[in-house]
Amino acid sequence: MIAGGNAVAGRAGADFTTVNPARPQEIIGRYIAADAEAIAQAVATARTAQRVWAALPDLERGRRVRHFLDAVAARADEIARAVTLEQGKPLGESRNELAKAIEEARFMAGEAARPHSGLIPSARAGVRNFVTRRPRGVIAAITPWNFPTLTPMRKIAPALTFGNAIVLKPSEYTPAAAVLMAAAARDVLPEGLFQVLLGGAEAGAALAGQAGVAGVTFTGSVETGRKIYALAAANLAEISLELGGKNAAIVNDAADIDPCLDQIAAAAFLCGGQRCTAISRVLVREGLRDAVTAGLVARAERAILGDGLDARTTMGPLTNANQLARVERMVRRGVSEGAHVATGGACAHVPGLDGGYFYRPTVLTGVEPEMSVAREEIFGPVISVIAYDTFDRAIAILNGVEYGLTSALFSNDNRLIQRFIDESENGMLHINHGTAPDENMPFGGIKNSGVGAYSVGSSAVTFYTTEHSVYLKS
Ligand code: NAD
Repeated sequence: MIAGGNAVAGRAGADFTTVNPARPQEIIGRYIAADAEAIAQAVATARTAQRVWAALPDLERGRRVRHFLDAVAARADEIARAVTLEQGKPLGESRNELAKAIEEARFMAGEAARPHSGLIPSARAGVRNFVTRRPRGVIAAITPWNFPTLTPMRKIAPALTFGNAIVLKPSEYTPAAAVLMAAAARDVLPEGLFQVLLGGAEAGAALAGQAGVAGVTFTGSVETGRKIYALAAANLAEISLELGGKNAAIVNDAADIDPCLDQIAAAAFLCGGQRCTAISRVLVREGLRDAVTAGLVARAERAILGDGLDARTTMGPLTNANQLARVERMVRRGVSEGAHVATGGACAHVPGLDGGYFYRPTVLTGVEPEMSVAREEIFGPVISVIAYDTFDRAIAILNGVEYGLTSALFSNDNRLIQRFIDESENGMLHINHGTAPDENMPFGGIKNSGVGAYSVGSSAVTFYTTEHSVYLKS
């Protein structure tokens, strides 16, 4: 536990361990869980540090955040390795994740120097009206296990840039990366400004409901998001929730289908499909169904499952036993409802890695929109292929789920592209490419995929600052 800028050993609370999902008998980390007292203390320490930090000039804060990012980048190898050991993804993916986290955070540090309001015309003579913004205060952040550096950094960088302190509780499955980032901050940021508290649901709930927290930012499942929303509401704290997805790519027409399928397969199978922005439904125009299915099957079968530290591995294990059981159960249910397994559909045994949480990349065909595999988030390497006849039907299937995170359309028909931009009920809309976002674009979802301001890019300021209307009469 990194509290008040220093590692705290032997504090009250239960110890817990993490394991390597490729070989679960191997323990990777031993941690101390924060109890209620430690959480209250961390928030109080953060408040003190935040007052001093907020008084610094904006550009100076931006400069110091960039120093912190340099300190994280200097430990990139160690942090990426820790991600692979606890999360399972191939080392190259862990490195790319951290590189993207730092890239986004550098953009965010630049926000300290950009304008966030302007003059507003006044109703009165001699009065200038404008809006100014102030840091919100102490931010509580709770993050999941799929992106142990990117998701925390999406909260740390804007919190600090806009003059807040942050107390982060990373997932109990993958805390090492956050601990290492906090360690990188130790000689660079003031004590208590960025703290990491460890533990599971109990610690997360205590942090989200802690008095003195001004804003709660959470990334994770819908179910947990609802609980955290209620806890934050009790304190009337500001909220930002980034939740699940059931993202679809529509393949309507394409001069060359191969580049589309490369992007769809990457978006579906990267991180073992454990991405909120993973494409898990491919809606395909009837005439293209066979070509698309064959292309996806070929790409799924090309994956090399293994230990993420092995350079040959292209797909690691799922991150924990619950996740593996969930993917197995959901695919079985899909099959019982009438889906066909075109490839995969079972756990994988990787020689030398007995007991590893491996699941074969899977393509399901014959899927109908009302089946559970077409509606519920699987969070594993599973694609459902759903055929449609008219574009109206494609849009109805696309929008017929509770989620609204990201979506893609592959088409060269301008009329359909315009319709997709207006009608896709998702926070993010990609046309003719997969669902990978840029480091300066707002990131978030609508419907059950999110509540509150988007993160990344220019939207973050609305969550991390409070707004003040100024009437200035000379
Ligand atoms: P989760 O909701 O189980 O856990 C996320 C975090 O919340 C963990 O740190 C956990 O310890 C904590 N937590 C659990 N119960 C809690 C409670 N009652 N009170 C407070 N904290 C609690 O999610 P997960 O299984 O770690 O992650 C997978 C989910 O995250 C998927 O649904 C995925 O779509 C979603 N996700 C969304 C985004 C996005 O940006 N929209 C990004 C990544 C993951």
